[in-house]
Amino acid sequence: MISRTSHLLLIGRAGLHRGRTAIVDSQGSFTYDDLLDASSRVAAVLLAGRETLEEERVAFLVTPAFPWVAVQWGIWRASGVAVPLPLNSPRAELEYFVEDTKASTLVFDALAEALLTPIAAARGMRALSCDQVLAGQAAELPDITSERRAMILYTSGTTSRPKGVVTTHANIAAQVMSLVGAWEWSADDRILLCLPLHHVHGIVNVVSCALWSGATCEMLPRFDANAVWDRIAGGRVTLFMAVPTVYVKLIAAWDQSSPERRAALSQACSKLRLMVSGSAALPVSTLERWKEISGHTLLERYGMTEIGMALSNPVRGERVPGSVGTPLPTVEVQLVGEDGRLVVPGTSGEIEVRGPSVFAEYWGKPDASRDAFRDGWFRTGDTAVVENGMYRILGRTNIDILKTGGHKVSALEIEEALRQHPAITECAVVGIPDPEWGERVAAAVVLKDGDALDLQSLRAWAKELLAPHKLPSRFLVLDELPRNAMGKTMKPAVSALFQAVLGNEPVA
Ligand code: AMP
Repeated sequence: MISRTSHLLLIGRAGLHRGRTAIVDSQGSFTYDDLLDASSRVAAVLLAGRETLEEERVAFLVTPAFPWVAVQWGIWRASGVAVPLPLNSPRAELEYFVEDTKASTLVFDALAEALLTPIAAARGMRALSCDQVLAGQAAELPDITSERRAMILYTSGTTSRPKGVVTTHANIAAQVMSLVGAWEWSADDRILLCLPLHHVHGIVNVVSCALWSGATCEMLPRFDANAVWDRIAGGRVTLFMAVPTVYVKLIAAWDQSSPERRAALSQACSKLRLMVSGSAALPVSTLERWKEISGHTLLERYGMTEIGMALSNPVRGERVPGSVGTPLPTVEVQLVGEDGRLVVPGTSGEIEVRGPSVFAEYWGKPDASRDAFRDGWFRTGDTAVVENGMYRILGRTNIDILKTGGHKVSALEIEEALRQHPAITECAVVGIPDPEWGERVAAAVVLKDGDALDLQSLRAWAKELLAPHKLPSRFLVLDELPRNAMGKTMKPAVSALFQAVLGNEPVA
C-alpha cells in the first residue's frame, strides 16, 4: 500500500511532538519544530526550484549533532536518497562511496570542507556547506511514498569492496517500529548517542527510534568514555546503546576513577531504564563486569545493516548471557543447513531473515542482490544455534566457523573460553589454511599489562574448557586487535598478521 510520508514516517510523526526537545548537542537544545523547520530549509536548497530530487543521491559528511539530522531529513523531504559518509575515512574510501552511489551533491560541515570540496570539484558535483543548506528559504516540498529509496549505508565487505545497502522509507519505518515496541520506547526517554552516524546502530536504533517516539537524543560528536560517564552522571539519560568495545572502554574509565567518582557513577546508572549491546558478540566477562559496575544486565541483540535488528533479549524477563534472544516483532527468522533445508532443533545453521525491515537491494549490484536471497529469505551469512528457545550466534559462516580436522568449530565460542584466562584481556580466533587440518585454530591475544603467555601454557590451561580440536595451535600476542570504526575486530586483518609472522610454528 502506498502511503504519504507526511502521514506515516518519521517526519510526519515529528508534528505530533512539536514543542518537545528532539536533540541536545554542544550548541544547545533543539525542538521537533526546529527540526521540521531546518529540514524543510535544507530540502528547499537541495531542490533549488525543482519539484523533487527523484531519488538523487546526496552524500553528506557531518559530525553527529543537530545539523546531521536536519540534513538527513532535508534529503528525505526533497525525495533524495541519503548517503551518510563515515567521519575519519581516508579520501580514497570517500571517493569510492561518492562514485559508487553516483551522488549528485555533497553536503559537509566545516570540519569536512577541506576534504570534500576537491572531491566534489573533480567530479563536477554540487558542493554545499551545512551553513548554506540550513540558511535556505522554505519551499513547496514533494509528497513521498514509503516505497521510495531512503538511504544507502555501506557494509564492510571481507572479500569485495563495500556494498551499498539500500533501504526504503518503509524498511526504515519497519525497523524502527519493531524496536520502539520491543524496547518500550516512549516520549519520556532520553538517549545518549556516542556511536558514529554512518551505521544502522546509531542511525536507526538510536536517532530514528528516539525521534519516532518523541524522545530526546543527546548527541556527542564522537565517543569519549569520560564524556559518556559525565552525561550518565547528569542523571537525565534513560537509555544507552553501544557496541561491546564501548562498554570495555567505559569499564576501563570507571576503573581509573577515584573511589568517590566510581560510587557516584554506579549510583547514576540506576536512573537508566535500559542498556543495550550489539553489532558484535558481547563477551560474557564484559556483561558480568558491567553488571557489577552499573547494576544493569546488558540487553544483547543481533542485527545487520541489511535487516535492521532481528533478534533481541527481552526488556522484561530473563536476559541470557551469550544469547541474543528471540525474533523481534514483524521479523521472521529461520536456521538453514548447507543443504538449504531447515535444521533440526539444537543444530547450527545459517540465519535467514524475512519481513518488512529487510533491505531493498545492494546499490547497482543486481547479481549480489539476487544471490543474497533464497526463496524470499535474506541469507545473513551468520551461523547460530537455538538453545532453550534462545538464539546463540556462532559467528560469520565463512570467517568464524572454522573447519579443522573434520570438525566445525565456532571462533566465538573459543574466544569466549580464552577470555577467561587471567592474563588475557581480548582475543580473536581465526582459521589459518593448513594442508593437514584444513584450517588450524589460531588465537591472537592482548595481554594484561606486565603479563606473559605462550602457546604451550595457554593450551595446557585451556584443556579444561575446550575439546582438543578447539585448542589453538597458532598463537600471537598483539598490543591491540585491529578494529573498524564500529569497534568490530577485523578478522581478515588478524589472519593477515598470522600469515605475516615468521617463526610462528604450529604445534602438532
Ligand atoms: P553490521 O552490518 O555492520 O551491523 O554487521 C552485522 C554483523 O555483525 C552481523 O552479520 C553479525 O556477524 C555481527 N553481529 C551483530 N550483532 C551481533 C551479536 N549480538 N553477536 C554476534 N555478532 C553480531
